[in-house]
Amino acid sequence: MRPKTCVVTGASKGIGRGIAERLGADGCDVVVNYRSSEAAAAETVDRVEAAGGSAIAVQADVTNLAEVEAMRDEAHESFGPVDVLVNNAGITQDVRFTEMSHEEWDTVLDVHLDGTFHCTQAFYDDLADAEEGRLVNISSIIGKEGNFGQANYATAKAGIFGFTRTLALELASTGSTANCVAPGFVLTSMVEELPDDIKETIRADTPLGRLGTVEEIADVVTFLASDRSSFITGEVIDVNGGKDL
Ligand code: NAP
Repeated sequence: MRPKTCVVTGASKGIGRGIAERLGADGCDVVVNYRSSEAAAAETVDRVEAAGGSAIAVQADVTNLAEVEAMRDEAHESFGPVDVLVNNAGITQDVRFTEMSHEEWDTVLDVHLDGTFHCTQAFYDDLADAEEGRLVNISSIIGKEGNFGQANYATAKAGIFGFTRTLALELASTGSTANCVAPGFVLTSMVEELPDDIKETIRADTPLGRLGTVEEIADVVTFLASDRSSFITGEVIDVNGGKDL
């Protein structure tokens, strides 16, 4: 892939770290965004550099527009305009609907939807002006299928589908694209904290018989971020071991 300047939100660990590292292996400049895990973000920077790229860690809570705009300014100062934005930052607050507080609803929607809105607004002009800019949003199989105890998360992840298709239409005249990756279950801290019997049920329900790896998601994101995906826009790419079959 032609080396690009990339921003990956929520890149201190998990899938975001894997995406940052994989982009680094393609020689990209990577802005490693995090909210609170400073030391982990510094480790991601080391891994991106060891892989062959350049990186800086930038703290910004994606729910806070001022912090996101400051991150954009820092990205510009270090690397210049951004070609690739990966909206990956995410959280869960699982509780069955009848017990869900408005705060638990808002908190999850704020990170996934407001966060995606803020970051895309902040970097929209860069993506539109880039030679083949790339917006890649990380949704989830849960946005399609729903899941017990995840009304907030499923709603947020379903919203990402409509957002992506709309941005694909609005960016199209610039030659830039917007796509979405919908992972199945991947062994990160988000899933590790689930009880073992639930993880076993997920494995049993997945035709390929296992959870996904961070690298398997990062490979697809990096393809969408590259010039090789130039005629794909507005799509949701499922990476879930056949779990929705
Ligand atoms: P993870 O290991 O828990 O990592 C989450 C990342 O998001 C961390 O870097 C965290 O930073 C960051 N983050 C959280 N809130 C933030 C905020 N307000 N502002 C900026 N950064 C924030 O999660 P993951 O499993 O890698 O998930 C990454 C994405 O993939 C999420 O969108 C998730 O919904 C999606 N996904 C995951 C799975 C899965 O099975 N793991 C499946 C489908 C989709 P700090 O540590 O600094 O807070």
